[in-house]
Amino acid sequence: MDISKKIENKFSGFVKNLQNLVRINTVNPYSGDALAPGEKEGQEYLKTVLDKIGFHTIMLRVPDNIGKKMGLITPEGRNFKNRPNLVGIYDTGRNGKTIILNGHMDTVGISGMGKDALKGEIINNKLYGRGSTDCKGNLISSALAVSSLLEVADKELCGKIIFQSVIGEECSDSGAGTLSLINQGYKGDLVISIDGTYHKLIVGCCGVATLDIFINGEGGHAAESEKINAIDNAILIKEVMDKIKKQRLNKDKKLNINIGIFNSGISSTVIPDKAYLSYNIVYNQRDFYKNRKAIKSNKIYLMTQTEKEIKNIVDKNSQLKEYPPEFKWIKNLHPYKSETAKKYLTIFDRISTRILGKELPHKILAGWIDPSWYNYFCKIPVLGFAAGTEGVAHSTNEYIELENIKNHSTVLANYLYELLKKENGGNVKC
Ligand SMILES: [Zn+2]
Repeated sequence: MDISKKIENKFSGFVKNLQNLVRINTVNPYSGDALAPGEKEGQEYLKTVLDKIGFHTIMLRVPDNIGKKMGLITPEGRNFKNRPNLVGIYDTGRNGKTIILNGHMDTVGISGMGKDALKGEIINNKLYGRGSTDCKGNLISSALAVSSLLEVADKELCGKIIFQSVIGEECSDSGAGTLSLINQGYKGDLVISIDGTYHKLIVGCCGVATLDIFINGEGGHAAESEKINAIDNAILIKEVMDKIKKQRLNKDKKLNINIGIFNSGISSTVIPDKAYLSYNIVYNQRDFYKNRKAIKSNKIYLMTQTEKEIKNIVDKNSQLKEYPPEFKWIKNLHPYKSETAKKYLTIFDRISTRILGKELPHKILAGWIDPSWYNYFCKIPVLGFAAGTEGVAHSTNEYIELENIKNHSTVLANYLYELLKKENGGNVKC
């Protein structure tokens, strides 16, 4: 029996697994939802699925503030208690490559989605619900791929498959689960990120930095016209950021700067003395490498440059000069590009073209994915190949197309076969 037929046979069972998993609330505790239990129950369920496949599974505690411990700028004070990583290892017992599959269990919040948020209903071959596309559908699709591969070709394989269902990908957790596994020494020859959408092969992603700006003013009674108003100062700062945004978007449409929070004021009768702005800044490899020395201090060129441009305006404006803004970089997630993955890319293209009848385009993501830490810390090539549906992640209308799960799973299983088959002696030169 070939792998595709096996996937066909097992498909409805795994769709059922996906429905079960979507019905378990795994909303990230930092989502802002009142009820956000985290990943644990979902991990326990997925563990039973992986156990059945033949993985040796283990749940692992993620240390609090893991990002800081690894020398990164990530949000402070994050607690990962009761939010275990799940790792499944399948070891053929024969020397060969180690392939890591990495996806996440946490989802963004469900408030505003109504009562069907976790229903896992299937309508017109689409499975609806929070996490269906991001990222539970990918976890299940990949489990289906490995399950089918092992049933058909177990004896023909060498090397290892490490299945990582991590916590802390969403809500600025900054890849805490993946960082923890890197810290614990989980390594491989190739990491396949299964977090994303179908119809493309991800060969890199942008970096993201979050900048909080605290603006000060004088404050006082609304009638006091000479007092410095923090909202007025905040608008001056926003204008600088808008200018930087325009310049960057002119260079590359991916390099967006998003203002996500603009907070100030309590009443029209009071002059506000404080304002708070929070920005997400997307950046690329060029920004990252522009000043290599700065990487060590984790303050990339883009960050120092942004601060410099704001300070220039502050120096020229008496109102701002008197009450200068304060900066705090909340997180800095590094970009990556799979320059070391050439041979793996070539094999992927050959397999996917054979199965799908066309080559999937290679793309650099405008967003960020946490396996990029593998590239940064371990220099391991990372590719992204997933089953999700484009444009619905994090939306109230999240769903996944079942057909994409089938295709993703088939390509992934055949790709793993090619990388691990014995006749190559696990020596695919990559
Ligand atoms: Zn995701």
